[in-house]
Amino acid sequence: FLSGRVALVTGSTGGIGEGIARCLASRGANVVINGFGDEQSINKLVESFKSDYNVEAEFIGGDLSKAEDVTALHKEAVKSFPSGIDILVNNAGFQHVSSIEKFPMDVWNKMMALMLSTPFQLSQLCMDSMKEKGWGRIINVSSCHGHIASPNKTGYISAKHGVVGLTKAVAVEVAGSGVTCNALCPGYVETPLFIKQAEDRAKAQGITYDEGRAQILQVHPSKEAVQLNDLGEAVVFMCSSAGNQMTGQSLILDGGWVAN
Ligand code: NAD
Repeated sequence: FLSGRVALVTGSTGGIGEGIARCLASRGANVVINGFGDEQSINKLVESFKSDYNVEAEFIGGDLSKAEDVTALHKEAVKSFPSGIDILVNNAGFQHVSSIEKFPMDVWNKMMALMLSTPFQLSQLCMDSMKEKGWGRIINVSSCHGHIASPNKTGYISAKHGVVGLTKAVAVEVAGSGVTCNALCPGYVETPLFIKQAEDRAKAQGITYDEGRAQILQVHPSKEAVQLNDLGEAVVFMCSSAGNQMTGQSLILDGGWVAN
């Protein structure tokens, strides 16, 4: 049902972004892939989108913590897909764990740029064509940490709360235009970002990786990690007609963490 639509998923060379891009492509959307990675793996990834889903797929790189790279990404995307972006998934992000006293200012600034300013900038750049078509979906990948806090993650939690605010502000401003804006708020998902945290915890405490992993998942009443496909299918739902009046919302997929 997404055949002919164009999805731009930032940070889709791996992890959650790739999972979301795959689910959208499986419903027929053409995809713009973005993120870091070596050329060979990226070429393989793009080819797999084309052959697995029979859609158009293009990689457009750039460091999205830099405003000029964000502008260039949008420009290139529209060159490849002149009808414009229909589905914008602001997903690129990273974690930094540190006490407030030791939290480097440059890391804070980079987090705000990538995880808050870039979703704003891309929403701005994609808005005209979405409004003209009377249909658009903006999905900001926030986190449970867009709603609750944990220690030693000031930058991440501030950016993720910020993007929930951005989501509401954009949603009410463009309501009635056919463009919706929602946040997807996962609990812990087993991606490289999560694996690094479990490894760091194991190293710091002299425990095994599995023990570190289980410690992190303690906060999920389900004790289970969120799967990539769960998130991708949630985005497909937001793009379906069921999502027509869903806007300004957070869809929290967390095994019960925030409810606890
Ligand atoms: P990941 O590290 O597996 O993937 C991150 C993606 O973003 C990669 O494609 C990477 O190349 C790209 N990226 C990073 N910095 C970039 C930059 N400056 N410019 C362009 N691309 C950049 O991480 P993930 O776990 O898949 O996380 C994706 C999103 O989901 C992030 O916003 C993260 O905060 C959020 N999230 C993750 C979890 C989790 O448990 N993994 C939970 C909640 C929210």
